[in-house]
Amino acid sequence: MPNLDSNIEFLKGVGPQRADILKTELGIFTCRDLLFHFPFRYIDRTKFHSIRNLHHEGETVQLRGTLRRLETLGEGRAKRLVGTLRDETGILELVWFRSVQWLEKSLVVGKEYIVFGRVSEFNGKFNMPHPEMEEAPSSPPIRGGESPEYNGAFPGVKPAPPLMGGAGGAAKNFDPVYPTTDKLTQKGMDAKGLRKLIRTLLDGLSASDLPETLPDYLGAQFKLTPRWQALNKIHFPETQLELDAAIRRIKFEELFFLQLRLLQVRTRRKDSVRGFVFSKIGDYFNQFYQEKLAFELTGAQKRVLKEIRADLASGKHMNRLVQGDVGSGKTVVALMTMLMALDNGHQACLMAPTEILAQQHLEGITALVGELGVNVGYLSGSVKGKKREAILAKLASGEMHIVIGTHALIEDWVQFKNLGISVIDEQHRFGVEQRSRLWAKNPAGPPHVLVMTATPIPRTLAMTLYGDLDISVINELPPGRKPITTIHKTEHHRLRVQGFMRDEISKGHQVYVVYPMIEETEKVDLQNLMSGFEALSRDFPTPQYQISIVHGKMKAGDKDFEMQRFIKKETQIMVATTVIEVGVNIPNASLMVIENAERFGLSQLHQLRGRVGRGADQSYCLLLTGHKLSHDGRERIQTMVQTTDGFIIAETDLRLRGPGNIEGTQQSGMLRFLLADLARDGQIIAVAREVAAQILEKDPELALPEHLRLRMQLASEGKDTRVWSRIS
Ligand code: ADP
Ligand code: MG
Repeated sequence: MPNLDSNIEFLKGVGPQRADILKTELGIFTCRDLLFHFPFRYIDRTKFHSIRNLHHEGETVQLRGTLRRLETLGEGRAKRLVGTLRDETGILELVWFRSVQWLEKSLVVGKEYIVFGRVSEFNGKFNMPHPEMEEAPSSPPIRGGESPEYNGAFPGVKPAPPLMGGAGGAAKNFDPVYPTTDKLTQKGMDAKGLRKLIRTLLDGLSASDLPETLPDYLGAQFKLTPRWQALNKIHFPETQLELDAAIRRIKFEELFFLQLRLLQVRTRRKDSVRGFVFSKIGDYFNQFYQEKLAFELTGAQKRVLKEIRADLASGKHMNRLVQGDVGSGKTVVALMTMLMALDNGHQACLMAPTEILAQQHLEGITALVGELGVNVGYLSGSVKGKKREAILAKLASGEMHIVIGTHALIEDWVQFKNLGISVIDEQHRFGVEQRSRLWAKNPAGPPHVLVMTATPIPRTLAMTLYGDLDISVINELPPGRKPITTIHKTEHHRLRVQGFMRDEISKGHQVYVVYPMIEETEKVDLQNLMSGFEALSRDFPTPQYQISIVHGKMKAGDKDFEMQRFIKKETQIMVATTVIEVGVNIPNASLMVIENAERFGLSQLHQLRGRVGRGADQSYCLLLTGHKLSHDGRERIQTMVQTTDGFIIAETDLRLRGPGNIEGTQQSGMLRFLLADLARDGQIIAVAREVAAQILEKDPELALPEHLRLRMQLASEGKDTRVWSRIS
């Protein structure tokens, strides 16, 4: 009997040919890989639908009947295999568009099959495309099951009601169904074949092959199924309760070790990297606070400043993320943080993702602190020659206190005398790697890091994605803001939308009109943008109206020129793609029209909307869509109309799209779980994190005997590149 780390080839029933296919199709190289190839659903073999009782399109059902007819129809791309299934109550058409030849050979007319699939409607008749077919065993079926699958464990699928009520219950026959492919199916490794292989594998293993990884006291505290049992029952549960318990155990384990790892990295960094101590609050800070700050800080701003202050005085290295919705006043928090550095004899830098944003920060911050004798400079790729030399010299000598700029700031040729803090605005455009390059700028040691983002991230995701950062949240807007009114209109209201635009412009306000621009459909999108621009140019003619246009295909210089015209109010309308999404602050703009709004993601819509509502006047966001909206599209638009709360929007976004699509997570790759789902398992994450934190506080190096398993597991994960290379 091979062990878990053996090549899958040597498992009975596999052999070299099948092993090859398992490797290429499913990435299964070892027996362990096969064991962790979990079912994506289960069939309760005892429950069948009757064909006569099929009522809903989209229903997933299990049927049992005889294959009556089988023929290939159509030619070329329309070629398909059509079959007829008959049970005691009626007949249903089955249809396949792929693997036609192979299926035609392997299915036998006249045989009885168990058929599993989704009911679909075509020309007013029900049929079932691409059903799974399995020869029926000879025992007779029990009719009446209305819910033959259990789907609760899997990402992207709403939990189905449990199959069986009550505790315990008689043993049921749950068959696991595994992700498979056409190629595997053709080599006999369909759901049934895989099931057999995994059965063989499990039969050859014993509890000692799958040792427990969690301390016994945790298992007892949270009533967790032992690991050996969980890995058996995830494949072959006999009852719903067993299945639920196995799922819970495996999810907990995944999330717990992730948090333990993240927190350990963080603790170690905090303990080993010394941070500059900013012990005093001095003249710069106080003078600014008393003389220049024109408004009262919000409670949230004060709280976050206190959190930052505590970090900076602690002697530990600060690595903090400040989340705050658009307009929540992050800039002033950043500025006051930088002044703390100055008061303690250090320099500060502020890095923004675009030149326009950096320029805006420069103007704003110079206006606020220029008169206090703070020397503020600017550096970007476009600052060249003598000008650049002069700035670099001043940074190296310490004469320049604050430098504001773009990515250029992380280039090696930028060196500081004693940089105390780096502030990074709109974090999601910067990667972890870029953040760490800021550490190397300074002879005296790593500067503190403050990252600001206007993309609210749900707590559970933040705990994981930014597990190595401390997180502060500005969850309050400055008083007196008029919430933006958001309205959904379909395209045939275009004339009224134009009238509305005219009204706003006649009040002296400015208007954005945004078009989607998606890489895959770029050409068409660009055409839409241009024809939209032309149409607007006809409806809003010169000289009365001036229109700017900005999109990603323009040269940087041209983009800047057009932006500047809008900023200087030389143009009233800005036609653009999402390039204007981040941070731009034009308080005079009061109307945001979003074309094809259904094509944008929620967080993008929210970011875009944040471009208006920055002045004293009532602002509006008009979402234009076609008539027909997908379910998700409708929910996105409705969410936008109903709320302006970035955190609610982020939660909805996470729910609709899953964590893999949230900005910043794509590259991280760390969100690949076997079962855990960041969008749905928030509670488990919170518990896992708390438990992990408690353990590390008591036993930072996991040296206690009861933590031996944890230490070993982390060490083996460290070797398992599949999991951890992606994280660190
Ligand atoms: P963001 O968090 O989007 O970066 P900003 O820092 O640009 O927001 O702030 C938006 C606007 O709100 C700025 O004009 C700023 O001066 C103003 N502001 C910030 N804090 C307050 C406050 N506590 N009271 C009133 N206005 C504030
Ligand atoms: Mg900002």
